[in-house]
Amino acid sequence: MGMMRQYELVDRVKSYNPNTDEDLLNRAYVYAMRAHGTQKRASGDPFFAHPLEVAGILTDLKLDDATIVAAVLHDTVEDTAATLEEIENLFGPDIRRLVDGLTKIKKLDLVSKKAAQGENFRKLLLAIVDDIRVLLVKLADRLHNMRTLHFVPPEKRLRIAEETIEIYAPLAGRMGMQELREELEELAFRHIKPEAHATVTKRLEEVTVREGRVIGEIEQDLKDKLAASGIQAEVHGRRKRPYSIWKKMERKSVSFEQLSDIFGFRVIVEKPEDCYRVLGLVHMTWPMVPGRYKDYISTPKQNDYRSIHTTVVGPGHSRVELQIRTDAMDRIAEYGIAAHAHYKDGRPGEPIQLADESRAYQWLRRTVDLLAEGDSPEEFLEHTKLELFHDQVFCFTPKGRLIALPRGATPIDFAYAVHTDVGNSAVGAKINGRIAPLLTELQNGDEVEITRAEGQAPPAAWESLVVTGKARAAIRRATRVAVRRQYAGLGRQILERAFTRAEKAFSDEKLKAALKRLARNTVDDVLAAVGRGEMYSGDVVKAVYPDLEPEKRAAGEVRPAGVANGKGWFELGSGDNLKFKLPGEPGADAIPIRGLGRDLPVRFSPQGGAVPGDRIVGILSPGEGVTIYPIQSPALAAFDNEPDRWLDVRWDIDDKVPQRFPARIALKSINEPGSLAQITTTIAEHDGNIDSVQMNRPNPDFTDVTIDLSVWDLKHLSAIISELREKRQISRVERVLG
Ligand code: MN
Repeated sequence: MGMMRQYELVDRVKSYNPNTDEDLLNRAYVYAMRAHGTQKRASGDPFFAHPLEVAGILTDLKLDDATIVAAVLHDTVEDTAATLEEIENLFGPDIRRLVDGLTKIKKLDLVSKKAAQGENFRKLLLAIVDDIRVLLVKLADRLHNMRTLHFVPPEKRLRIAEETIEIYAPLAGRMGMQELREELEELAFRHIKPEAHATVTKRLEEVTVREGRVIGEIEQDLKDKLAASGIQAEVHGRRKRPYSIWKKMERKSVSFEQLSDIFGFRVIVEKPEDCYRVLGLVHMTWPMVPGRYKDYISTPKQNDYRSIHTTVVGPGHSRVELQIRTDAMDRIAEYGIAAHAHYKDGRPGEPIQLADESRAYQWLRRTVDLLAEGDSPEEFLEHTKLELFHDQVFCFTPKGRLIALPRGATPIDFAYAVHTDVGNSAVGAKINGRIAPLLTELQNGDEVEITRAEGQAPPAAWESLVVTGKARAAIRRATRVAVRRQYAGLGRQILERAFTRAEKAFSDEKLKAALKRLARNTVDDVLAAVGRGEMYSGDVVKAVYPDLEPEKRAAGEVRPAGVANGKGWFELGSGDNLKFKLPGEPGADAIPIRGLGRDLPVRFSPQGGAVPGDRIVGILSPGEGVTIYPIQSPALAAFDNEPDRWLDVRWDIDDKVPQRFPARIALKSINEPGSLAQITTTIAEHDGNIDSVQMNRPNPDFTDVTIDLSVWDLKHLSAIISELREKRQISRVERVLG
């Protein structure tokens, strides 16, 4: 890479500022070149290449002459014979002040002692609050040093990289300079965790090769749709960077395979109202992922960031994130405070008016005001770090122990961070002395007290609600123990019924005596095996009563309700003593089904499962417990020849603990704008939860829509279906039974 020539620097500035003071730039170039003379960098390049590159980075941010000149001069006073007096004489007081600020903070780098680091950071903030341009040069300086970090001796590298990721990258982010923050993080990540960086980068390449075509399709589709609706927009595809993927993997403890939204698009439009038009178009074209829609236009982030975010499911089930914003919002998003620090109307020599409305700047002011309150440097650094690390929250136990958690953490995460036992037995929380739900998002400084009850098992649903890996792993473990208890409970119910039918007594003692024959170590093992469907009830009856006559034994087996052949009649085997009954009408000893996650390991067929009110049967699946099917379900035909797997079940819904159940409906809808919105609104208005929507357009006039939704019961589902039938745009609605 050749060094930037004098005319190149001038041309770059002229490209965005025609009124630039060329003479000033030229004089600075020559002055710094002479001052640095034959100094060399660690790379062996002439030292002067460094200030030039720093100035080059700042021309990308389109900054004013004084900032560019200060960048060219930033290392002269500290590293050469140049003096501040000389610089003031040659370049004026404005540039002297900037170079002075930069010289002061240059000494701050890389002091490892905690107190000194705190004091340094304080000086850094004091220097930059007077003139934000000092920070802009400092960040560009750090960026160039990071870009050339591989030339620095290895023992110094790690310290520089850590300081970058701890102080400078968050500071750039706080100032809204996302581009710069991301590059700093990326470069530091490479040095701090080289293996993780290499792995993520490689996987990212592989996914790009695999899914690149789909992404291209979506991009084209999006462009066509925008053009067709007359919206002026630019569409840029982008791929997440390795560090942000890594951070997400760590934060959510997920593997790379589970990370789905690696690709994204940025749609840049002219006017804010266009953002919402694009959003509507996107949501009408692809199903949206619930919970991912964020409107930072109506509620900007603290660093002035404005944009609409949403995630949709594109072809091939790839999730794609979209950011929709105007050109002006995009500039703020990329350059942050630097976008405010421009020439106003290109008049040189006029002091730059920092936009007072800039929230990032307000934050800086507030932080510096804190300095006046005279905290010790260490405390100050801690405090400022708290503010900087806005992806973390710091909370306290009642005894004052500090618990650091990722942002979004709940009291459940907190409880597990304190101790696994505390998490497993948590039943409630007090935040700052007040009772609060366990799912409250914790804030910085919260004091959290966990209420515990012994003998509790954490609900399995917590696993998807917590944000820390520790909590997730512990919940998974505790759930596994609880699930085993559930299987044993189910096994006991199945066995009690089987023994009753065989007219034989059932007890743990009798089972114990037959353990050898059953090749199991404990009674619980037998119960769990039966509950999991790995051992059939008939075999257990036989093992306990080996002398039982074959007829009785057969009678002990649980027989199918006899409906799966579609005829609705029993198939009676010889020796059966089952009572004649209508298909699906539960017997007196049918196993009560209360819903999910109660005392039995019960699942509902996810595609068109049963809802309370349906007549049901249970199918015992090896390793999975019972799956509940509506009696009319065509899927039951598959189990016709496996009588041991059929269970007589009945609903036993607890009104006090309402629960939703999955169901599926299929619709045919006329293709016209708003049809899908009409469908989803109707369902939502009638208290239906939409879990997913799939669309297929067999011809230009109609769309086939399949909706998975959750409802309270059959009455509720029927009400939704008849409501949909009323709609003019919908030509057909049917329930789908899986
Ligand atoms: Mn430098």
